[in-house]
Amino acid sequence: MVKTVTIPESLRPSDARFGSGPSKIRSEQIRALDEAGGALLGTSHRQPPVRKLVASIREGLGDFFSLPAGYEIVLGNGGASAFWDLACASLIGRRAAFGSYGSFSAKFAQSAALAPFLDDPVIYEAEPGSYRIPEYTEHADAYCWAQNETSTGVAAPVRRVEGSSEQEALTLIDATSGAGALPVDVSQCDAYYFSPQKAFGSDGGLWVAVLSPAAIERAYSLADAAKQTGSPRWIPPFLSLRSAIENSRKDQTLNTPAIATLIMLAEQIGWLNGNGGLAWSTARCARSAGTLYQWAQASDYAAPFVSDLQTRSNAVVTIDLDDAIDAKQVIATLRGNGIVDTAGYRKLGRNQLRIGVFPSVEPDDVEALTHCIDYVVERL
Ligand SMILES: *Cc1c(COP(=O)(O)O)cnc(C)c1O
Repeated sequence: MVKTVTIPESLRPSDARFGSGPSKIRSEQIRALDEAGGALLGTSHRQPPVRKLVASIREGLGDFFSLPAGYEIVLGNGGASAFWDLACASLIGRRAAFGSYGSFSAKFAQSAALAPFLDDPVIYEAEPGSYRIPEYTEHADAYCWAQNETSTGVAAPVRRVEGSSEQEALTLIDATSGAGALPVDVSQCDAYYFSPQKAFGSDGGLWVAVLSPAAIERAYSLADAAKQTGSPRWIPPFLSLRSAIENSRKDQTLNTPAIATLIMLAEQIGWLNGNGGLAWSTARCARSAGTLYQWAQASDYAAPFVSDLQTRSNAVVTIDLDDAIDAKQVIATLRGNGIVDTAGYRKLGRNQLRIGVFPSVEPDDVEALTHCIDYVVERL
């Protein structure tokens, strides 16, 4: 028999969405659908009003990431998963090296392994709970890893692999759950790509990439090379980065985007920039994550899953529970009280809580969550 525990109203967070993606969408973003959105929803994405919205997203992200000279914000449909296949078709020349340390970082490497016109990828693996950046690899023309491994709550640094610039290799960073939550110097990579349903608290279905001049040049030269007779490379039109770049320069996407996603994304970018940009949002996430790690460390039944302090993510926090306490029951009881999406990554299979502490989440709500977990555990 599972006991029902009712958490007192006074302990509960004001907003109880703690997902690692989709994540909390602030009410101001939803309101924007009615206000700004009233005139935009259900209208052509090729006409000035929606294109202006896309322009504001590209400009706002340029400010947010302090875009270096020549870098561009490019976007398209399909989310980060689509970007992996797009990178295989349009960014990796022949051979890529990957860091693999969890479900998401492994998936991109799998995509590259499946592309018949690429050499087998070179994969540098680490156990879940740690990370490994790919090492210098002969004949590699792309180095790929995830800044934030969402399945394990691990954060990896973003800095070029030594020797990679001399090779003219690109650095491709999966920042899906890191962008907006973790510090970054985008000049240390050539593609910093993400989906908006994590730190940007919008809906899924879109990918956004901060691209360097070298990445843009690679997309063009591979598109040209694919047209040569006898080229084994296949670039499906939907996976053409060149076409995404050209559409983005006109503040459009190749095919129809979800306009609601764009409206909520634009609102969030305005909110983040208005509060102090990347420095503000990363500090806010660090504060929320710190609350959880300190609480877990002080607790006699919980402990941070990631042992190395520098590796603990400030975007997604993973907390192991003592075997005597069934995490599934805790998660279900929290959900019964309206506190949602605190489950660990299913495939990791640990007795674990996983909490998204993206900028939209109020640090006070994270504090409240710790009290709610204590309340539930004491009574189960
Ligand atoms: C969520 C996530 C993805 C997949 O994003 P989609 O938008 O669902 O394609 C990829 N990588 C990381 C690190 C993620 O957290």
